[in-house]
Amino acid sequence: MAVMAMAAALRGPSGRFRWRTQATAGGVRGSARGAAAGRQDYNLLVIGGGSGGLACAKEAAQLGMKVAVVDYVEPSPRGTRWGLGGTCVNVGCIPKKLIHQAALLGGMIRDAPHYGWDVAQPVLHDWRKMAEAVQNYVKSLNWGHRVQLQDRKVKYFNIKASFVNEHTICGVTKGGKETLLSAEHIVIATGGRPKYPTHIEGALEYGITSDDIFWLKESPGKTLVVGASYVALECAGFLTGLGLDTTVMMRSIPLRGFDQQMSSLVTEYMASQGTRFLKHCTPSRVQKLPDGQLQVTWEDLTSGRENMGTFSTVLWAIGRIPETRSLNLENAGINTSPNSQKILVDAQEVTSVPHIYAIGDVAEGRPELTPTAIMAGKLLARRLCGQSLDVMDYSNVPTTVFTPLEYGCVGLSEEEAMARHGEEHVEVYHAYYKPLEFTVAERDASQCYIKMVCLRKPPQLVLGLHFLGPNAGEVTQGFALGIKVPGPQACLEPLLMESLGGGAGPPTSR
Ligand SMILES: Cc1cc2nc3c(=O)[nH]c(=O)nc-3n(C[C@H](O)[C@H](O)[C@H](O)COP(=O)(O)OP(=O)(O)OC[C@H]3O[C@@H](n4cnc5c(N)ncnc54)[C@H](O)[C@@H]3O)c2cc1C
Repeated sequence: MAVMAMAAALRGPSGRFRWRTQATAGGVRGSARGAAAGRQDYNLLVIGGGSGGLACAKEAAQLGMKVAVVDYVEPSPRGTRWGLGGTCVNVGCIPKKLIHQAALLGGMIRDAPHYGWDVAQPVLHDWRKMAEAVQNYVKSLNWGHRVQLQDRKVKYFNIKASFVNEHTICGVTKGGKETLLSAEHIVIATGGRPKYPTHIEGALEYGITSDDIFWLKESPGKTLVVGASYVALECAGFLTGLGLDTTVMMRSIPLRGFDQQMSSLVTEYMASQGTRFLKHCTPSRVQKLPDGQLQVTWEDLTSGRENMGTFSTVLWAIGRIPETRSLNLENAGINTSPNSQKILVDAQEVTSVPHIYAIGDVAEGRPELTPTAIMAGKLLARRLCGQSLDVMDYSNVPTTVFTPLEYGCVGLSEEEAMARHGEEHVEVYHAYYKPLEFTVAERDASQCYIKMVCLRKPPQLVLGLHFLGPNAGEVTQGFALGIKVPGPQACLEPLLMESLGGGAGPPTSR
């Protein structure tokens, strides 16, 4: 009874719990206990308004649950901030793909005279104009997400959440105001953020990450991209395509986890387009010169020599860390992986606490991709509402790297296939091909390549498909369907032949 009175006293006009830390610390305990006793504000509370969180919240609300979403963007160390929608919308897939398109257009303008267009030279690119257009589009998506939440009666809070107990979170606004929210079910979909190297002098002070590059108002100029991830190569690719002097510094192999033959072709093509690569090198210091330029010192791991170079921008693309650190997961008893700090989940996305779930980039073992986060969120909502028992199938998810020559793949890399099945049981069909649009424009097609990794034993089940060439995303999706949908896979060969376009010979096995 005393607990109920305390909880009632702490309720704000909207019926939600409101509380200020020090003044009513006892009240927090009371309301939190009240929530644990079964008087929750919401059926479902989603922490994180990104790809997975928004999809889950909207689906659950549509199916009749009382739902709230809390989302808060901690500004990047450079001070960049953005709106609702998460990584993909604001600092990931969407702006990346649009700037990739801007870079591809540069290539098409160079092709255009071959096709009869009289293009006045020189053709210049205006970063400011592009950035404004991209940023305005992203802002329209932020607005669209807010409207969609409103339409579906999902309550949105712009607060940073952390757990008070297993049914209650405390959210803090930008201005420091605190709110307590409780729910029967809680979904954690807080994603991740780019990693900064902690041991390199000047890295945090002078460097930027993918959280900043898409929001720059001015061109980054001569850029050093540090890293070999897909984010590193995609950023370096579009910067080169926009005409900027771009260098990629990598310690070891490009695109770890992807097929290594394909990865080498990706970087080979980038080098042919003007991206410089400093392989087996690692930066040790970044210093700001009086003229504002950044002087980077690095070690060449092969020769052991120290080198220096000057850049306008240094972009760290050395990986991402899950957003679990400030969630106070221990207050709810949620377990994380000691290595990755990601939240441990089972096939139903359930954490170590039965009514708390984790989806998307923050969950251990999940692909860091938007469509999988969205689908996982929708399926979870349907299960929570008793509409379905379906769980997300994370196998054979197609993915594309949007480098200047795009690389799409689905299934196993050649290395993985051999490791799993033994080299003697794997057969690889492959072909170099020339995309039709490269012919008239006399583009070099040396790296346009496709390979199919199969089991040798008939009926030669396709384990993986790898495609390097224009529109790889669209091409791979088609093949993915053939690989994903059970049934005879013989249909893949005509598809493969079709995709090779004019002039290519039949794929050969090796
Ligand atoms: C440069 C780049 C390019 C990418 N390109 C692609 C691509 O082409 N295709 C693709 O499929 N994927 C791409 N991705 C990956 C994709 O963006 C992510 O996989 C996807 O956004 C993950 O969704 P999510 O819901 O797990 O998290 P997010 O979309 O990251 O959303 C998490 C949200 O939670 C918020 N949050 C975090 N902590 C709290 C808290 N304590 N309280 C309240 N809110 C919080 C965050 O601010 C964020 O808004 C790219 C990523 C990057 C960085």
